[in-house]
Amino acid sequence: MHALAIPATTRVTAMAIWIGIAVTYAQQGGPPDHPAVTVAGRTYTPASILSRNMGTPDDQTTAFTPHRIIANIYYIGTRTLSSFLIVTPQGNILIDTTYERNVPTIQKSIEQLGFRFSDTKIVLGNHAHGDHQEGDAIAKQLTGAQVIAMAEDVPVLQAMKPGGKEHPIDRIVHDGESVTLGGTTLVAHLTAGHTRGATAWTMRVQDGGQSRDVVFFSSLRAPNVITPDVEKEFDRTFALVKKLPCDVPLGDHPAQYEMTEKFARMKPGAVNPFIDKANCLREATIQEAMYRAVLDEQRKGLK
Ligand SMILES: [Zn+2]
Repeated sequence: MHALAIPATTRVTAMAIWIGIAVTYAQQGGPPDHPAVTVAGRTYTPASILSRNMGTPDDQTTAFTPHRIIANIYYIGTRTLSSFLIVTPQGNILIDTTYERNVPTIQKSIEQLGFRFSDTKIVLGNHAHGDHQEGDAIAKQLTGAQVIAMAEDVPVLQAMKPGGKEHPIDRIVHDGESVTLGGTTLVAHLTAGHTRGATAWTMRVQDGGQSRDVVFFSSLRAPNVITPDVEKEFDRTFALVKKLPCDVPLGDHPAQYEMTEKFARMKPGAVNPFIDKANCLREATIQEAMYRAVLDEQRKGLK
């Protein structure tokens, strides 16, 4: 991408990538880049959200500084693709292996934190797209971990076969079921729409004598065309996410919870910036506004 070679401010670079994606959209015969929605003073379009989520190819594969988020939860992903490690006395839970080519990077981040990749006992996923779950097969090969999937995402996961490898599925969960390891329990909440089995995982941690609810939100990004089935899913999902107890919002792309900005604010003795109850629904608000705007355009025949 030429835009990246230009020495420029981050804002200009981000703008160039956004324009680049918008142009690609059009060139591929995709929909034009509308509607636009404004939430909390910022304007978003389908292409700007995609650009914010994915960044550059480098962003997708370059490790972000691995760090402890809160209690036994660590960030081990790249600059734009989240991976989380939950450490327990009986081994670790990995949420999102991301692309298969990122698995060695994730392994390195785990080791940098002083843990062992081979202690990974369970692999969970955010939703059945390659940028979040393509690495499951190689992660299982390397660690022997059990791969757990939401029932509604199973067909798409089974079709995900990097290098011809079968996608491992050792256990299937349904909405409301839980996964427990070494005293840590995660509850699976079906938050469908982006995919049929998109899953928000919740867990409670003890931190500084306080109990905190952590939500690993699923992607809530609407597709370009919303079918009646997807509409039903999103209507249920947006009502559901508003009811999830939440003190620490996390997401499948770091920009959804402003990871970079929060990480920069982490200081010994300071309040943990990842505790951010006030912004638990910020991403859902953006995505719901976009979803409603897309539906509105569809109904008016503008799409
Ligand atoms: Zn996705």
